[in-house]
Amino acid sequence: MPDVPELSVVIPAMNEEENVRNMHDRLVAALEPVVDGLEIVWVDDGSTDSTWEKVSEIAATDPRVRGLSFSRNFGHQAAVTAGVDAARGRAVAIIDADLQDPPEVIAEMVVKWREGYEVVYGQRAHREGETWFKKVSAAAFYRTLRRLAHIEIPLDTGDFRLMGPKALEAYRALPEHNRFVRGLVSWIGFPQAAVLFHRQPRAKGETKYPLKTMLKLALSGFTSFSFVPLRAATWLGLATASFALLYLVFRAVSAAVGFVAFGSAGLVASIFFLAGVQLLAIGALGEYVARVFEEVARRPLYLVKESTDGKTGVIPPER
Ligand code: UDP
Ligand code: MG
Repeated sequence: MPDVPELSVVIPAMNEEENVRNMHDRLVAALEPVVDGLEIVWVDDGSTDSTWEKVSEIAATDPRVRGLSFSRNFGHQAAVTAGVDAARGRAVAIIDADLQDPPEVIAEMVVKWREGYEVVYGQRAHREGETWFKKVSAAAFYRTLRRLAHIEIPLDTGDFRLMGPKALEAYRALPEHNRFVRGLVSWIGFPQAAVLFHRQPRAKGETKYPLKTMLKLALSGFTSFSFVPLRAATWLGLATASFALLYLVFRAVSAAVGFVAFGSAGLVASIFFLAGVQLLAIGALGEYVARVFEEVARRPLYLVKESTDGKTGVIPPER
């Protein structure tokens, strides 16, 4: 194997014991013939099953495999970042552990990368075995984000992608805590290309992305790449103030011609309405303030309990 493998594959995994072996075999079969040196980096994101044991087992017999295990669950985006930090390959691909993204597609990404694209992302042409709720909410989220964000995030992509050396250097230099990986990778720019693929149903196990986690990720996406929710308060304020002025004029005129428009019900409703609008605006502000706090606190993004390299704790990026 060459000193620097041509490709590292990063796999974030939380409770994926049933998928580790299969994933490994399929990756090796698909990529070993096409790349000059392959490395596989597993990131165990605080699994409570035997994921880490399975990874260590494979790593003990296969020198291409490395792995690290978090001190607790830090989340998918932190796991992806840890893997990218630890990877030694010239290019790095990120793939989910559940075989929803076919490992064979990475071979196509490598071809595109060699053509000169620094980022090659997998774009879902078709989703199988996912609930209609997930499909509809994902479609709505990506389309709204596209409208609100000040960067161009391609539709229907996840974190399944490959980054070349320049993109990697840029990505590793991004210090932010609130990581919305697909947004960050778009933000760095460079020539980017898509590879279309059919998203498969999860091979084994259950989704690790319940609604709550999905919402959190969506909020990270909005707050990291759009100030529209903050500015919305300004526009709402302007709109309600204008409405109040118009209303005053309306009341003055109707008093002059001698009829009364609303009673106390109107008053109560408008108080509640305005209180709601104000709380909403404060809430939006709070989301940003909380994130500013997280950024200035500068806690490490993840902590490593155990790794195949013997490193633990706060690990600086490999390259
Ligand atoms: N994952 C993780 N940490 C988490 C949640 C998920 O590392 O807190 C991993 C998970 O093991 C999988 C990938 O992230 O490899 C995507 O998760 P999943 O397939 O459950 O999400 P879905 O495809 O249902 O959106
Ligand atoms: Mg999945």
